[in-house]
Amino acid sequence: MDISEIIDPLNKAQRQAVCSEAQNTLVLAGAGSGKTRVLVHRIAWLVQVENVSPYSIMAVTFTNKAAGEMRFRIENLLKTPIRNMWVGTFHGLAHRLLRAHWMDAKLVENFQIIDSDDQLRLIKRIMKEIGIDEKKHPARETQWFINECKDNGLRVEQLNPREFHNREFMLDVYYQYEELCQRTGLVDFAELLLRAHELWLHQPHLLKHYQQRFSHILVDEFQDTNTIQYAWLKVLSGNNLPSTKMHTFVVGDDDQSIYGWRGAKIEHIREFTHDFNAGSTDTIRLEQNYRSTGNILEAANSVIANNSERLGKELWTEDSDGEPLQIYKAFNETDEAAYVAGQIDKWVENGGKRSDVAILYRSNAQSQPHEYELVKRGVPYRVYGGLRFYDRAEIKDALAYMRLLANRQDDAAFERIINTPTRGIGQRTLDIIRQFAKQKQQNLWFTAVELIADKGLSARAAASVQKFIDLIDELQINDAESMNLAEQVTHVVEASLLKEFHGKDNSERAQAKVENLDELVNAAKRFDDVGDPLLEAVKEGLLKDKNTEEETFQAANPMAEFLAHAALEAGEGQAEEWEDCIQLMSLHSAKGLEFELVFLCGLEQGLFPHKNALQDYVGGRLEEERRLCYVGITRARQQLHLCHAESRTIYGRSELSYPSQFLSEIPASLVTQVRAAQNTISASNYSGSNYGSKYGSDDDSEVYIGQQVSHKKFGAGIVVDIEGSGARARVQVSFDNNGTRWLMLNIANLF
Ligand code: ATP
Ligand code: MG
Repeated sequence: MDISEIIDPLNKAQRQAVCSEAQNTLVLAGAGSGKTRVLVHRIAWLVQVENVSPYSIMAVTFTNKAAGEMRFRIENLLKTPIRNMWVGTFHGLAHRLLRAHWMDAKLVENFQIIDSDDQLRLIKRIMKEIGIDEKKHPARETQWFINECKDNGLRVEQLNPREFHNREFMLDVYYQYEELCQRTGLVDFAELLLRAHELWLHQPHLLKHYQQRFSHILVDEFQDTNTIQYAWLKVLSGNNLPSTKMHTFVVGDDDQSIYGWRGAKIEHIREFTHDFNAGSTDTIRLEQNYRSTGNILEAANSVIANNSERLGKELWTEDSDGEPLQIYKAFNETDEAAYVAGQIDKWVENGGKRSDVAILYRSNAQSQPHEYELVKRGVPYRVYGGLRFYDRAEIKDALAYMRLLANRQDDAAFERIINTPTRGIGQRTLDIIRQFAKQKQQNLWFTAVELIADKGLSARAAASVQKFIDLIDELQINDAESMNLAEQVTHVVEASLLKEFHGKDNSERAQAKVENLDELVNAAKRFDDVGDPLLEAVKEGLLKDKNTEEETFQAANPMAEFLAHAALEAGEGQAEEWEDCIQLMSLHSAKGLEFELVFLCGLEQGLFPHKNALQDYVGGRLEEERRLCYVGITRARQQLHLCHAESRTIYGRSELSYPSQFLSEIPASLVTQVRAAQNTISASNYSGSNYGSKYGSDDDSEVYIGQQVSHKKFGAGIVVDIEGSGARARVQVSFDNNGTRWLMLNIANLF
């Protein structure tokens, strides 16, 4: 047996963790100390040396991408495919359980997952029905409330109305929302976790089955588990029963807990050794960092030292100090993006790979100026999060058609597409349908059909609604058996007229939508080819297992699987590394990843730390922002650039901004200040808020803010900003029909 490949690339503490014989193990260690590596090597160790069947191992990762990478690395170490091991996110694993045991979970077989937009739409509808004024009580607040309850494992029956004073209506909305979802077969993200937890509590035979099946549960990024995830693990591990044989192995870093705002509880790290104490318990600390240069590591250590609530860890590296960190003070966000792109050009000229470069920011909207700059220079890039593929309106429309085809009870899908593309069905008609649906306690689809039959709608409205119903029914006819998934998706995209609708519009935005719809077909094609490995594993496992054979686990049809995949894996689909490209993502999405060259952008008070955190110091949100900064700094291996701008456009207005307090927490000895003055106009020249000021790009042409201009491709617009000079002069034009764009003045040919 050759175990050297598993053990040799580890230091002593890591090896101790990998081979730990304790029943419950906590690895508590800072960024880049090899936690994820330890987890991967432990699984290989268990399979190779301790002869644990992969079938008995469950590994929980933070993203689906991480799950894929973990599987890949384990298979590399073991040199054999490990198909029937469960690796996935909490949500992904919960979803698979519910699909397999939908009946026990009291769900309909073809339940659909809804995202937070759909959820908000349903909540709005309920609030309207019971007469809550949205101006006084934004629906978003109620949405947060409902999700928070679910994250804490609380059903509406468990809440005490007396504690709600003048917000009792929230309970009512929660109740009606749950009822609506149950009736229409919809499951939101928080519900996935709560249901999966209830499955353990209410179906002891299933719990027992999985407790016998799994002997090892391993969790990465443990510091970001929320209450219900923690409870789910605890019940599954059997740690409430002293006799349990289950081994739990969790790795985490309290300094990288960044999802408190979404219900994650940093305390779980502290509570783990207390709560998971059946059998022996071990805590292992890793202190050597293998990722970053000395300077980067020291900067990270200095920043995080300002937090008070820490479990305390020291990180050191054998690596050299490396280059100093570069702080770039930009004039504005455009200049910041130009600096970043310039540095990337240099990196690539010197032989660096683009995929080793990350541009990180606090808010997804910050990607835009960077995208603009990179497009301009023809540099390939990929954005993670933010403009996520499956989040785009046209994609969600197409998916809603498929969802309604799969399940006529899906009210969220019905609402989304009844008048998309427009077919003359107005708000009033929809209100009538909703009202009747509520009275009769049935879904919108059947209510619409009934209303038409009973002449409950005006003749015109009835005709339009009938057209919609016919369309969906016709789409159904050519369904399933005769076509593969990609063909079905093509059919839906075309026959729904979605593609034609966007195709009629010549604007760039509409064209992008058409391309996205085509890309959806491509995604279906890839899905047809590869499928969903974890779902395969679940099926395999269930087939093998005698105890659950009576469980009527139907292989979901490919369309249902694809829809679930789209709902769960929004944004991660574009992650194929087919092209060497720059990675753009929020700091939250960068967790666990590493890059040679990192740009941390928008380090300004109010942006990062976020203004909400500055207003709410008591709640510890500033400390969470600082942990996010620590996560950002520690993504870098060789070089780190920290950028902030003196002025930034927020909601269309240019505003002055001040350097982030986190910058001042980095020792001056570690950094070099950069400011490339010749790169842009001087600050006093910057005319963002100077309406009507004139500005010449060269001697004979002159533009000014507020000027009406025309562009050959984008049409008429108005100049809203100007910067740069001579050949670098840029104007920002708000076009009547084509949004707001920055253009190079000397090539835009404005007239
Ligand atoms: P994070 O907290 O950011 O998730 P982590 O603790 O999970 O980080 P890893 O990503 O596992 O850290 O490891 C960081 C880097 O150090 C990786 O490139 C990994 O391959 C490398 N590394 C870890 N341990 C060793 C080791 N013993 N020898 C050489 N390289 C190592
Ligand atoms: Mg990690």
